[in-house]
Amino acid sequence: MGRILFWVILIVAIYAAFVFARSRRTKGDSHKQVDGKKSKFPTAMIECPECGAYFPEDEAVLGDGKAYCSERCRKKARAHKA
Ligand SMILES: [Zn+2]
Repeated sequence: MGRILFWVILIVAIYAAFVFARSRRTKGDSHKQVDGKKSKFPTAMIECPECGAYFPEDEAVLGDGKAYCSERCRKKARAHKA
């Protein structure tokens, strides 16, 4: 009985070490990829023409050829024009 327990613990230990090593490696790879993407395409901060707030370009709400910080500002700008 003690011998079986020994083997079970050994297998679990090897499996845990394997999973740990693998998760660390994949984490490092994905981190590198994210860094590469970030340095290639930095998120530009642009100014909202309506409220003057700075916000990341990828969150922009496009309307009438301009980029607004939110749907609210886009609607506000439209109200000015009308
Ligand atoms: Zn705004």
